[in-house]
Amino acid sequence: MTSPKCVLCDKKITKKNDTKEHLIPNAIGGRKKVKGFICKSCNNTSGDNWESELAKQLNPLSLLFGISRERGEAPSQLFETTGGDKLKLNVDGSMSIEKPTYSERPMEPGAGVQIQIRARSMAEAKQMLQGVKRKYPQVDLKESLNNAKSQYYYCPDMLNFNLSFGGHKAGRSIVKSALALAASSGIPARECTEATNYLRSDEAEACFGYFYEKDLIQNRPKGIPLHCISIKGCSKIKQVIGYVEYFGTLRTVLCLCESYEGPEISDTYAINPITGEELSLLVNLNLSNSEIREAYDYKKTPNGSIEAALGEVIPASMKAAFEKEKDRVLNEAVIYAFENCGAKEGEMLTPEHTKKLTSLMMERIKPFILHQLTQTRNRK
Ligand SMILES: [Zn+2]
Repeated sequence: MTSPKCVLCDKKITKKNDTKEHLIPNAIGGRKKVKGFICKSCNNTSGDNWESELAKQLNPLSLLFGISRERGEAPSQLFETTGGDKLKLNVDGSMSIEKPTYSERPMEPGAGVQIQIRARSMAEAKQMLQGVKRKYPQVDLKESLNNAKSQYYYCPDMLNFNLSFGGHKAGRSIVKSALALAASSGIPARECTEATNYLRSDEAEACFGYFYEKDLIQNRPKGIPLHCISIKGCSKIKQVIGYVEYFGTLRTVLCLCESYEGPEISDTYAINPITGEELSLLVNLNLSNSEIREAYDYKKTPNGSIEAALGEVIPASMKAAFEKEKDRVLNEAVIYAFENCGAKEGEMLTPEHTKKLTSLMMERIKPFILHQLTQTRNRK
């Protein structure tokens, strides 16, 4: 058997420069890998250029759905709220202020200044207070810290999500993923010239287009922001057709090869990026030439269809976020209440303790309940 050549640069793939290429990029939650497809250096370059652009464009969705990655976490991202504030959204669903704030306001003459600090953590507050102490040595650090309050608050505004995808970098990542699946299921990648030309040359025509006219996934599970790659090689029509969908929202069809002579082959790989678990999907790739052509020409994206696709998966993510936050709040409230109710470990709880426990728990849960109430009212 001759050793395979890199699909992107023709270098021989040896034990030394072979890499595991993710079928779906790791950055958006992909798991499965293929070997003997591209060389290590092409893997690095395409990762830095194509995958990172795709991941950047899809990052708001990675955060919104709280995807799990094999390596690393989806990076937190700053969003503007409808109220004009800036909030950082983290992949665990929490939000934090962009940066700490510090304000100094003179009180009545002779009464000194009032200082207000808003920090992202107690450690950061402490650090900032030490700075204050250098400026005003009379400040009592211990007392100030004791008076500091840690609180969760919910932003009453909504985040402005600006979602846009496209361009040739993200497009090449999509084409490469479909080609990797084709190669792993036995279609010689080098014969897929429509795909390889596009991956190798800036002048070549793009071989993918957006497709929303009908749902090609026959057994789409409800409410899952799924990732799916599917390919089909058919010698009767001499084509290798592909389908790549990310987050249930970005849906593309591809033609990897227009001169296919090999056997009938089809393969699909799909996952739920929230859990990483594999999904078994049926994809109908019986697309005509003209349908694919029209997808390339943006004619298969009816008005509002992208929003509708996104709308199908958002409610599930909101429900998951609610459950996650409810658990977090309850756990945190119980711990907080026990730590501060005055009872020592192992001690029997007195009626006084119980009363204190209840009120401390309510204190911690209240912002969450109020937030839910206002949200529900706003939706109505
Ligand atoms: Zn290479």
